[in-house]
Amino acid sequence: MKAGVIAPGSVLGVLGGGQLGAMFTVAAYRLGYHVAVWDPDPEAPAHRVATHSFPFPFTDQHVLARFADLVSVVTYEWENIPAELCRALEQRKPVCPSSAILSVIQDRITQKNFLASHGFSTPPFIGLASPDQLLSTVRQIGYPALCKTATAGYDGKGQWRISRESEVREVEHAILESARPGMRWIVESLVPFERELSILVVRGADGQSCTYPIVENEHEEGILRTTMVPASGSSAVASQAAALAIQAIDRLEGVGVFCLELFQLSTGELLINEIAPRPHNSGHYTLDVCSVSQFEQQVRAICGMPLGEVRLLSPAVMLNLIGDDAAPLMKGAGCRALLDIPGAVLHLYGKRVIRPRRKMGHVTFFGETLVLALDHAKQFRDGLASGPTLSS
Ligand code: AMP
Repeated sequence: MKAGVIAPGSVLGVLGGGQLGAMFTVAAYRLGYHVAVWDPDPEAPAHRVATHSFPFPFTDQHVLARFADLVSVVTYEWENIPAELCRALEQRKPVCPSSAILSVIQDRITQKNFLASHGFSTPPFIGLASPDQLLSTVRQIGYPALCKTATAGYDGKGQWRISRESEVREVEHAILESARPGMRWIVESLVPFERELSILVVRGADGQSCTYPIVENEHEEGILRTTMVPASGSSAVASQAAALAIQAIDRLEGVGVFCLELFQLSTGELLINEIAPRPHNSGHYTLDVCSVSQFEQQVRAICGMPLGEVRLLSPAVMLNLIGDDAAPLMKGAGCRALLDIPGAVLHLYGKRVIRPRRKMGHVTFFGETLVLALDHAKQFRDGLASGPTLSS
């Protein structure tokens, strides 16, 4: 079903109630909308800010009918929600981005085939339907290689690095152990990129689109740790990335917010690693240092409203708070100490339980220059590591 213009006062539906769903809900609230959050986990952060909360399994058909009746449009906060749920909802209400796009993106093989067939550069890849073809596939791709589950992987989960032939058997064993019926994998060349970049692009139902500045990302153990904006380097790279982003989402005919994760090679060439069909962790800086945040753009795009003009108001560094990083901040004194650092904006996601590798919050550090923002971020990280001020 196609979306028209959806007026403030209407109820927007979001599938998934993590921090991205919560930030979407707050942005919608600011624009006068109500939000219905559907997430099976009753403790999911977005339930705390939703007007209507659906803490029920995604398979519940009664809930599906109630949810569809209530909302004017549906979006989602991440790509691993069931595609069949999106298809069923789409029979009754518009879903943005569409379930067809979700299906392309959910499967790494389908996504990379889509990109390659439209002439976009990606790391070399081959789909793998059976673990016993791993050796021959890796030989074709060459070493070093990366084997990933085709679906449901995130934050480096479901990935195995293969540096040499002697490691293939062990990885074959590991993927066999975690295999489920119908599962597929993708084998990619491990690209010797110089740096990882990403770019947000927003596309409205009328086909108009806009991009955010290109950002540079650093990962630790497969999880995004730091985003720096604007990325250093030539304006040629920035315009190449913006053109790529607009073309790719035009080809998909996507409506909503998308993020392209890119690898920059030493030649300057940009490869698309993957596309997220939603606001992205590397775009959280937009909440604090942009004229319009990525979440407000998501609301605008799915409601058929004009997209906001994007302006970066300050250089910034976004630092994710992962696992135990959050422990001192959840105590009053640690939180006070952090809020005392100049140019630091704290976002805690309200998750009660700290788990290793769990994203608990983030901090945006801004400054006159990126160097100053990086200094503030470093001060804070040093404080986290040594602890006397923040953890007291
Ligand atoms: P992904 O789940 O595909 O986003 O991968 C998580 C992280 O693994 C990326 O941010 C990269 O740091 C690394 N990575 C993924 N694919 C490749 C590749 N083909 N070559 C080199 N590094 C990769």
